[in-house]
Amino acid sequence: MGELANTFSWSYSRHGMFSECLRKYWLSYYGSWGGWGRGASERARELYLLKNLTSTPMWLGTVVHDVAEEALKALAQGERPWVERAVELGLERARRDIASSQAGRYRENPKKQPGFQEHYYAEPEPDWDAELAEIERQIHNLFGHPVFRRMMDVPERILEVEILRSVPIEGVPVWVKLDALMQGNDGGVVIVDWKTGRDHDDAAIAQQLGIYGIYAVQLRGVPVEKVQALHVNLRHNTHTAHPINAEFVAQSRDFVARSAEAMRAGLSDRERNVAPEDGYPMLPEGDERCARCRFRRDCGRG
Ligand code: SF4
Repeated sequence: MGELANTFSWSYSRHGMFSECLRKYWLSYYGSWGGWGRGASERARELYLLKNLTSTPMWLGTVVHDVAEEALKALAQGERPWVERAVELGLERARRDIASSQAGRYRENPKKQPGFQEHYYAEPEPDWDAELAEIERQIHNLFGHPVFRRMMDVPERILEVEILRSVPIEGVPVWVKLDALMQGNDGGVVIVDWKTGRDHDDAAIAQQLGIYGIYAVQLRGVPVEKVQALHVNLRHNTHTAHPINAEFVAQSRDFVARSAEAMRAGLSDRERNVAPEDGYPMLPEGDERCARCRFRRDCGRG
């Protein structure tokens, strides 16, 4: 089998990283590339491991999202998921993840075995009891939330759950993965997005949902006026409707095109997606973002 080529694509998380720190972006999308393979350099292997490290908020979000995904997939297959069972499974998995990371199994398989930054950097353990309690609370919030309850009432309307898709936007392949897509009324669709973190930027959420809207219009052929988007915050037990309309979709397309062009401006070979490391500087020494960055060892900052 030939080597996997590092072709250029765009995603909202890639944009976030590009905006946060250019070196972090390079390490994630170029420096760590191929680090899974036997013939990889020692640095690429280490960067691949670092790229896959997680933080407690990110991990908590993954656990809760996975519980929601399993529940919706069970519903779509005619089963009735129960909150008690979902909590039990979610907590079992969470405890397994913690033990696996403590045992350092992520070093053997960084992609499949979660590795916490605290374990890699030999820092004090997080308050796991508090994290487990928060997972339990958010699973209860999920099952008690009116949006999820409505979904449980009409499982035949679940169109897709967490499917990774590539959508061409202005000539750029864009990755999207919707937490759930429901059939709405009159041939419309409702995009549902769960959030689990403490702080969320409404403008960023709207931007991300706008891109999901392009997917619904472009690949599913839904008229834009029949696309709705709902952001459900499981930490605060709230939800917000985000309007999707033709103007917003056009703005989202423009946003993707401009962001992708900024990313490609630094390439030394656009055709082959080659990025020279020295074109992607680190943040200034002392920047507080470095203290929690998973790559800080490579940058000599941790
Ligand atoms: S440690 Fe700082 S400079 Fe290095 S990748 Fe992370 S955020 Fe960027």
